[in-house]
Amino acid sequence: MKLPIYMDNHATTRVDPRVFEAMRPYFCDVYGNAASRNHSFGWQAEEAVEKARRQVAALIGANAKEIVFTSGATESNNLALKGIAKKGDQVITATTEHKAILDTCKHLESEGVAVTYLPVERDGLLDLEKLRNAITDRTVLVSVMAANNETGTVQNIAEIGSIAKERGVLVHTDAAQQAGKLPIDVVNLDLLSISGHKMYGPKGVGALYVRRRDPRVQLAPQMDGGGHERGMRSGTLNVPGIVGLGEACAIAMREMREESRRLASLRDKLKDRLMAGLDEVYVNGTMESRLPNNLNMSFAYVESESLMMGINDIAVSSGSACTSATLEPSHVLKALGLGDDRAHSSIRFGLGRFTTEEEVDYVAGRVIQVVQKLRELSPLYEMHHSS
Ligand SMILES: *Cc1c(COP(=O)(O)O)cnc(C)c1O
Repeated sequence: MKLPIYMDNHATTRVDPRVFEAMRPYFCDVYGNAASRNHSFGWQAEEAVEKARRQVAALIGANAKEIVFTSGATESNNLALKGIAKKGDQVITATTEHKAILDTCKHLESEGVAVTYLPVERDGLLDLEKLRNAITDRTVLVSVMAANNETGTVQNIAEIGSIAKERGVLVHTDAAQQAGKLPIDVVNLDLLSISGHKMYGPKGVGALYVRRRDPRVQLAPQMDGGGHERGMRSGTLNVPGIVGLGEACAIAMREMREESRRLASLRDKLKDRLMAGLDEVYVNGTMESRLPNNLNMSFAYVESESLMMGINDIAVSSGSACTSATLEPSHVLKALGLGDDRAHSSIRFGLGRFTTEEEVDYVAGRVIQVVQKLRELSPLYEMHHSS
């Protein structure tokens, strides 16, 4: 086993070597511009892009013509929301969204769009009755993420889509974490964002699914230029990146079932070992509707920053974010109703395709050891546990 161990696969993933091999020819050999119509360099590049478009579409049950390539899920989210909502409209989203949605919504608010942020229940799931009640005559778009990047909570996105559709409202989902991990289908959706680097593809490439029929979704482009991607996203296509995203989707389609079973079992082993080895540890978010590779846990009396320093040969994330000088508890954990203490003692474990059982055993052992050591130094813990 090699150290350090990477267990932060919600932040990004290693490029699958098969993806890298698929991309390789498109740097120095097949380097044409996919928009060049007059020679074979351009045709070959275009052919590769169109193959990738079919591969991406197949993963989400879409038609290839409905795929718009972007630089990643951040751009896809921006294009979906800003491309639809105008002054005077209402957009409905959730408090647990990624910043790529929340900050875009803030921008929309500054331009006169009304944004409703739906709270989630303690398990992280939306109360669909609250969604129904929030829809008004002014609502143009509901945007709810498929799976959460911190707690792995998987929303019932098909049901959310059908509620919005009943009222003639468009539905977008940020599927950056779910695509390639669990099945997702665009059947009740109008817009869907994915990201290459969250699914063993390269960074800097993503896609937005844009429905073409029933209804045909019209997006206002966010960049002016050569009118690439049916006018929705100008800019020379990132051919190697797009080829990599396509290959990543094709691999996920073939291997997702088996892989998610394996990861859920490793994840459960990690959880069970941590809970057997330590008292007062808590799982954040529901285990019922969760990504197979996600574990988010709080270790009472332990600051996650200290814990992460103690396990410095393991890459994980904490439920706090450094904003300027202060350590802010995660907005997602707060939205679940967890107190600051619980958020400040939380760690996110993100397992992935390359995680081994040996690594899981090592991580469990190290975390138990360091938590015990930190608790021995904690006056609060001693106070509560001295007999
Ligand atoms: C990583 C992530 C994003 C941002 O994706 P990029 O491709 O890095 O721009 C957006 N939403 C979610 C849920 C994510 O996990």
